Amino acid sequence: QAKQAGKNRYCLFDAEQERAVRDQLDSLERIRVALENEELVLHYQPKINMRTGEVLGAEALVRWQHPERGLLPPGQFLPVIENTAVAIELGNWVMRTALAQVVSWKSQGLRIPVSINIDAIHLQHPDFMKWLTEALDEHPGTEPGDLELEILETAALDDVVQVSGIIKDCDKLGVVFSLDDFGTGYSSLTYLKRLPARVLKIDRSFVRDMLEDPDDLAILQGVIRLADAFGRRVIAEGVESQAHCRALLELGCDWGQGYAIAKPMSARALQGWVIGRPE
Ligand code: C2E
Ligand code: MG
Ligand code: MG
Ligand code: MG
Repeated sequence: QAKQAGKNRYCLFDAEQERAVRDQLDSLERIRVALENEELVLHYQPKINMRTGEVLGAEALVRWQHPERGLLPPGQFLPVIENTAVAIELGNWVMRTALAQVVSWKSQGLRIPVSINIDAIHLQHPDFMKWLTEALDEHPGTEPGDLELEILETAALDDVVQVSGIIKDCDKLGVVFSLDDFGTGYSSLTYLKRLPARVLKIDRSFVRDMLEDPDDLAILQGVIRLADAFGRRVIAEGVESQAHCRALLELGCDWGQGYAIAKPMSARALQGWVIGRPE
């Protein structure tokens, strides 16, 4: 009907649309193959206690070692696989690869807990807990405390009932949850009460402007007090300078992650970084 009315226009539109869909499928397939060909790698960025210098763990961040285009950050390929089965495949790969890395570090006498970023579609899959326990079982020597899960605050709000159930199941296992990019998801206090994640990871946008923007400073202060009242820990992401570090310590936020501490790096480089730190 509508199609017959403006035949030419719609034909053109369909062809364009078809090409867009095909391109999308091509790049999706290309990423799936990259995963198979082991072109994806995890880099690790340390999280520390800025007061004591203690290394608390490291966040695993995926990169694509593209044969022609070089090392690609996740922003250049994760959006393509969002909400697809490939995101689940990638998620399970990240889980196993991070645990294998923990085992490898342990064999060198280093205990570095790793946190991984979990997509909502992965977390909400009925088999998620099965995959998680299998991955832990397949890596003897790892304890549940060696793995932490980060989920975007916005994704957690997707289905609070289901996600809070999974957080509780993980808690029983000893796997810690953080709400990533906290403060960006319009979450109300009620939601925070219902999402029993142990750690709130303050979004880096608030840290970035905290020294210039009194509103951001107030938000940081608020989140830190809120976490304290709710018995949660806070960690600040995007700590880019010593001034940030000092200001956060003054506010009572001891844990931090950011370029001022270290940039994300290869597993081997992180090992060297940890060993080379003064006691
Ligand atoms: P995120 O989980 O919030 O990770 C922190 C991002 O901030 C990382 O970017 C990190 O390199 C960057 N960053 C750390 N410190 C600083 C700093 O001081 N200044 C600035 N400007 N940036 C800093 P990256 O590696 O590009 O990752 C971007 C996002 O991609 C992550 O944000 C996460 O949401 C997603 N992501 C990364 N790896 C994975 C993964 O394995 N699975 C999933 N599902 N998502 C991932
Ligand atoms: Mg994260
Ligand atoms: Mg974050
Ligand atoms: Mg972020």
